[in-house]
Amino acid sequence: MKMHSYWLDTSTPSGDYSSTPIPKEVDVAVVGGGFTGLSTAYHAAKAGKSVALLEANTVNWGASGRNGGMATTGLAIGFRSAMKRYGEQRAIGYFNEYNKAIDLIENLVEDHDLDVDYERSGKMTLAWKASHFEGMQRTAEDLKRLVGQPVELVDRANIRTEIGSDVYHGALVDPLGAGMHVGKFGHALAGLAVDAGATIHERAEVVDVERIGDTTIHDLKTTRGTVRAGNVVLGTSGYTGKPFGWQQRRIIPVGSFIVVTEPLPQAVVDELLPNRRMASDSKNFIYYFRITPDNRLLFGGRARFALSDPSQDRKSGEILQKAMHHIFPQTRDARIDYMWGGLVDISMDQMVHAGEHKGIHYSLNYSGHGVQMANYMGKVMVDVISGNPEANIWRDLKNPWIPGYFGEPWLHLRAGGAYYGLQDKFS
Ligand SMILES: Cc1cc2nc3c(=O)[nH]c(=O)nc-3n(C[C@H](O)[C@H](O)[C@H](O)COP(=O)(O)OP(=O)(O)OC[C@H]3O[C@@H](n4cnc5c(N)ncnc54)[C@H](O)[C@@H]3O)c2cc1C
Repeated sequence: MKMHSYWLDTSTPSGDYSSTPIPKEVDVAVVGGGFTGLSTAYHAAKAGKSVALLEANTVNWGASGRNGGMATTGLAIGFRSAMKRYGEQRAIGYFNEYNKAIDLIENLVEDHDLDVDYERSGKMTLAWKASHFEGMQRTAEDLKRLVGQPVELVDRANIRTEIGSDVYHGALVDPLGAGMHVGKFGHALAGLAVDAGATIHERAEVVDVERIGDTTIHDLKTTRGTVRAGNVVLGTSGYTGKPFGWQQRRIIPVGSFIVVTEPLPQAVVDELLPNRRMASDSKNFIYYFRITPDNRLLFGGRARFALSDPSQDRKSGEILQKAMHHIFPQTRDARIDYMWGGLVDISMDQMVHAGEHKGIHYSLNYSGHGVQMANYMGKVMVDVISGNPEANIWRDLKNPWIPGYFGEPWLHLRAGGAYYGLQDKFS
């Protein structure tokens, strides 16, 4: 069994960027080589700016190369909760951003004929409890009426048309959700950024930041040299560290974990997920799953509130394997070929936070929904630095500091785990 990402294991980097010389000066420096950073680099270079992307590890090393590969519709919070918090119009606006984000990925794939196993096979949310399905019925009505989203409900009696399991109490299906091979996509996007003129610098961790006066100009000191940037865009997600303390204190990194089976016979695949939808369930300790392009079952979840490291990945992977056998007894004899984990960047309100603080632009806090949104926000951040701040619909959202949190996630993980576990039990 391999203890690293299936996506990275089955894709090829667009190049080796570990010794590219750091330029002295650029229009835009991007920190982080995940989807936020790569998309920013691509769109900024395409707009004619000189761009250096600085990545502490390698392209796609963070959450972007480790996720479920699901570009799904909707916010990290429920649509009805969003309406309650922000009012109808703002909630509709936020919801629609995710639709636009999937369209952006689809356009990139089509315009550049990218071979990334992109497929709009739809997304479904599965009801863990009967009460959750009742909530889904109300959500479906609102989504159809207010957003025009073509969602459909599947009740328990018909659930086998969507999933080979009797565990769930119904499903909300949204045909606009998509899946892709995120390893191939991330590498292809890096290739596009380089073709457009950006330079990528792997093994170049930003260790210090100095602002020049009150401007957006900064000197970024990396482990491979210093670059002066007219604008800085931070796309470090759950891996945000000390030089960016203000942003770090607003992110709780939470481990999310995945196991992937050996390739399954077509008949089993057709039984497990006959429509090859991207799937997740309605618990806080969420399970999510899909079929990979080569017919494996990818099964992920929060499993437990923990960070990701080799020992946590294994413990969480074992819990997930049991959960997978419970949901899909058909997989009991299937070998597990991959097990890994990564960090999701959660904020207090589980909303995207993007803006500018002390001259540094940032887009973070996708709360487990960044496959589509990180790519989209890269383009948005380029619009912002090109003089169109209104392109960033999230700009007015307050981004509260997490009380008592200084970037040491353990205490918060324990408290959060207990809280969400109780909610799953009693909701
Ligand atoms: C297991 C798992 C499953 C997930 N499943 C899904 C899913 O199915 N659908 C979905 O929508 N979302 C999912 N997500 C979330 C999604 O993957 C992320 O929201 C998204 O990839 C974030 O992209 P990013 O570019 O902002 O950050 P990342 O991809 O995390 O990249 C951040 C990069 O910043 C670099 N970095 C950090 N500090 C520095 C520094 N000082 N200098 C230089 N570089 C630095 C890191 O090395 C890292 O490569 C999942 C996440 C995980 C972990």
